[in-house]
Amino acid sequence: MHYPDSKDRSAELLRLAIPKMAEHPAPLHPITYAVWYDYLAGRNGGLKAEVDAVTARRVPLGDELVHTLYTRHIAEAAEQAARRVSDGLRGMIDDVEQSATRTGRHVTAFQDTLQQQGERLPALTTAESIGASVDALLGGTRDAGVSLAALASRLQAATVELEALRLELDHARAQATLDALTGVMNRRGFDEAMTGVLADHPEDEPGPSVVLIDLDHFKQVNDRYGHVFGDTVLKTVAHAIRACVKGRDLVARFGGEEFVVLLPSTSLAGARALAEQVRTTIAGARVRRGGSAEAVGAITVSLGVAARRPGEALEPLIERADQALYRSKRDGRNRVSVAD
Ligand code: GH3
Ligand code: MG
Ligand code: MG
Repeated sequence: MHYPDSKDRSAELLRLAIPKMAEHPAPLHPITYAVWYDYLAGRNGGLKAEVDAVTARRVPLGDELVHTLYTRHIAEAAEQAARRVSDGLRGMIDDVEQSATRTGRHVTAFQDTLQQQGERLPALTTAESIGASVDALLGGTRDAGVSLAALASRLQAATVELEALRLELDHARAQATLDALTGVMNRRGFDEAMTGVLADHPEDEPGPSVVLIDLDHFKQVNDRYGHVFGDTVLKTVAHAIRACVKGRDLVARFGGEEFVVLLPSTSLAGARALAEQVRTTIAGARVRRGGSAEAVGAITVSLGVAARRPGEALEPLIERADQALYRSKRDGRNRVSVAD
């Protein structure tokens, strides 16, 4: 199990988890904590739905229930997709194998029939005996034909099943690189994509450039309006960033309240212009609270931009963008700074 949360964020989840654990009878061991942690982090949809259903019925979460929830939604969740695909494959291979064995038997029997009838040919002198031989051959041909047709249709079905399994695997693989809250890439997805971009980057093209984006005073937003609203703000910001990028550009959630845009073929000047557009789009957006008409005061972001120097690796590039971001914070926030 991989937890992507920053120290601050995890400390906040700990703070929220304690009253939940106190409310219910399960002992305060790490398994109980893991269940509430995942529940509060909001990444585990299945777990959340089941805990909500249980608490709506006012069922207390005792030790046994906590273990069941843990096993079902945390320990096993990651293995389930892989197991489903591998079970599906196993079943399909067994099926096709049986079908092929049956066909093999029929074809062998047909070979025997052919051989027997061939040996008998010189002795066939009467119309009746020739007729009987033709009948035997016809019967054998029919059996082998039916069996071959069954194998062909089983193979056809197997192709369809394989394609469905491949899609399921692709989906599971894609999910592993996405951030569950905002739907943009997670850190792992970003690192993979960035490695590919750095390796494939043509020397004569500008970039790649990166833009680091950090929400301003986000802790205050959480403290003032609650962490559920804070999550809504994160989703809105992710959406706004996405609306500003195009083509091969990538948006990822880099940490708790930090995002990164990867611009594979954009110069520093182009990246700066995009960063400015992201800044104004977010500052101009109004996030409303839970159905009420009340809009919260402007949400702003600080940004740091860097373009890769020839031969520069990922880490120093990000480090320079981070220093530029730090300058934006220091100079008053809600601004863009460019790395030297
Ligand atoms: P600054 O302008 O200097 O960036 O101030 P800040 O308050 O944004 O920065 P700080 O690093 O002090 O706090 C970041 C906050 O982001 C604290 C943490 O609770 C919150 N946070 C991180 N991840 C999440 C999340 O997934 N959901 C919510 N609601 N809050 C989060
Ligand atoms: Mg931050
Ligand atoms: Mg911040």
